[in-house]
Amino acid sequence: MVERALGFIYPAVCQFCWAETAQHDQGYLCARCWQRLRFVSRPLCELCGLPFDGELTSTFRCPNCHDCDFSFQGARSSVIANEFALNLIHRYKYQSAMWLEPVLAGLLCSSLCQHQLHEGWDLIVPVPLYPSKQREREFNQAERISRRIAKKWGVSLDSRLLKRVAPTVSQTMLTRSERRENVREAFAVGKTRCLKGLRIMLVDDVFTTGATTDACARVLRRMGASEVWVGTVVRGL
Ligand SMILES: [Zn+2]
Ligand SMILES: [Zn+2]
Repeated sequence: MVERALGFIYPAVCQFCWAETAQHDQGYLCARCWQRLRFVSRPLCELCGLPFDGELTSTFRCPNCHDCDFSFQGARSSVIANEFALNLIHRYKYQSAMWLEPVLAGLLCSSLCQHQLHEGWDLIVPVPLYPSKQREREFNQAERISRRIAKKWGVSLDSRLLKRVAPTVSQTMLTRSERRENVREAFAVGKTRCLKGLRIMLVDDVFTTGATTDACARVLRRMGASEVWVGTVVRGL
């Protein structure tokens, strides 16, 4: 029934390129568009999840992580931030292409499974948006993606645990250290809750330098969380 109803809204054609056929179980993306996604694969930095060309037998830390003191234990992403992946995120976030939501959540979910990061979580927490930004966009992409994953895994979600207290400027043009400075005080405790000993999966759409997720993880660790991992759909290189 639901599938037939969706068929009315989304005809069996790729909702992205409109050139090829695509069905509900392909997420309304055609085979050719699926091939434009570049999946993050091993070897990768054990800390920030940055993929690395070549062969590695020992655990590896990328140069960026050598003197980095991240508050999260590790970060993993599903696909590389190529033009196509960023285009998908853009359509979802700014053009409300809600049909992409199950695709993006599904990508993250299966990648976390591949890294054996799909079990043992006490809580899933999305990176919050600044309130005026959320009003403008009408939804928080990280929260909606998290909600789907939480439901699939049967883990509780807490989207009020963190709040964004500073309207940070866009990070796109900033250097690594400027990004850290830009978000340093941007997040705070949204509600009092003891996180002592809890394992938390922090979710966002894109990971670039890790400045944003690190600032969030720092607040969660200060609240007592024993472990924080980061899961994002897209990974900037
Ligand atoms: Zn297509
Ligand atoms: Zn790294």
